[in-house]
Amino acid sequence: MRGHKLLNTLIFIGLIAGVIVGWLLYRHYGSLNLDSKELAARVQWLFDAGDLILIRPLKMLIIPLVFTSVVVGITSIGDPSRLGLIGSSTLVYYFATMLLAAVLGVTLVTAFQPGEGVSQKVNLQEVEQRYAESDDSPRKVIEGSPRDLGSVWMNILRQMIPDNVLSAAVNVQPLPVITFSILFGLALGFLGESVKPATEFFEALFRAVMQLVGWVLWLTPIGVFLLVSWTIARLGGEAVAAVGKYMLIVFVGLVIHGFLTLPVVLLLFGKINPYRFMWRMRPALVTAFGTDSSSATLPVTIRTAENEGECSKKASGFVLPLGSTINMDGTALYEAVAVIFLFQVYGIELGFEAVAVVALTATLAAVGAAGIPSAGLVTMVIVIEAVNTTLAGTSHPALPLAAVGLIFGVDRILDMCRTTINVWGDAVGAKIITRIAPDEVEQKQTALG
Ligand code: ASP
Repeated sequence: MRGHKLLNTLIFIGLIAGVIVGWLLYRHYGSLNLDSKELAARVQWLFDAGDLILIRPLKMLIIPLVFTSVVVGITSIGDPSRLGLIGSSTLVYYFATMLLAAVLGVTLVTAFQPGEGVSQKVNLQEVEQRYAESDDSPRKVIEGSPRDLGSVWMNILRQMIPDNVLSAAVNVQPLPVITFSILFGLALGFLGESVKPATEFFEALFRAVMQLVGWVLWLTPIGVFLLVSWTIARLGGEAVAAVGKYMLIVFVGLVIHGFLTLPVVLLLFGKINPYRFMWRMRPALVTAFGTDSSSATLPVTIRTAENEGECSKKASGFVLPLGSTINMDGTALYEAVAVIFLFQVYGIELGFEAVAVVALTATLAAVGAAGIPSAGLVTMVIVIEAVNTTLAGTSHPALPLAAVGLIFGVDRILDMCRTTINVWGDAVGAKIITRIAPDEVEQKQTALG
């Protein structure tokens, strides 16, 4: 237990030190007036080191952990009708909280109009030009990705019904592996006593993978330090001031959702002190902030939820892996704010119908976003296209896709914040579902042991 405390303190120190060093570098590079490319090249080593030290080891564990934790979670639920109840409650929770987040985002951005006056501060033609010429990977991904909701959902369905689970595992796609693991766990549960050795084998495997996660956790403080300082240092080359109000709105929205909405939901349905639970989950939240990826954070989320957050194996084995790819409250909020902000910058007024389209499609597009860095930026394009389609019959012009160039540069920092809220939303879900599906006493001891 003392080791846990030390580790948690070190992770926190890593975060604070990362912010301070990043800020000093930001000031330093800001004064050199480097362009964003030059600056990015100078600080790239910070990212490379953070990637080697933290992101890659965590990613290495995602698939083994998803497979074993889901199988163990499902076999311990046993009864398929119980699984139905847990599954439907989980999905209702995911969608309801994401929609709440998107509506909050829409409300804030409409009330505070951060897009007003931006076109006087920045040259939008230049922004579009820069976007068109940029060789950044986000632009390539945006242009290579489907832009309509139908294709994105079809893609999700294909992942949910995989034809080759091994190739999905090789490509670190959690969703197909989750489907396979749920079915496999159900089969083990159905066969019961006759396959007891196999069930015990997977439990032992799960504990071994969790032990590996425990070791990798000790890399978190230094990894978080490197990644956080990298992000903040890079802001030195960006026109932060022009989009400062927009960043503030996203940030305030995430804070309200994370510190107010989700805690109230947890208080109502989980009947526990939400802030104490949040404090216990801090290793996962800080890792999410540093790595910028719900999927990479998943090993830490599961371990922290079970060992420190006292979530049941049944709940966390199901809710957390699925949540890391589907449940993205922070992303839904961000997409809603970002899209309306861009329309405001271009002086295109959105009526009630278009705003409602934003809230709904932002929720659905967030489901389609993978738990990796910048995924929300890519699926945001779907929301823009949906609004453009709504406006098609009216006198309003459409928003050019290249407008996204305005918020490229500051996306990473917002992504870190929204990923933290995404992971917090998953953890709250696991805690609520723990009430419906608690572990039997001896199972809890195994998880803690
Ligand atoms: N980075 C986010 C996550 O992993 C997804 C996003 O880009 O919004 O949860």
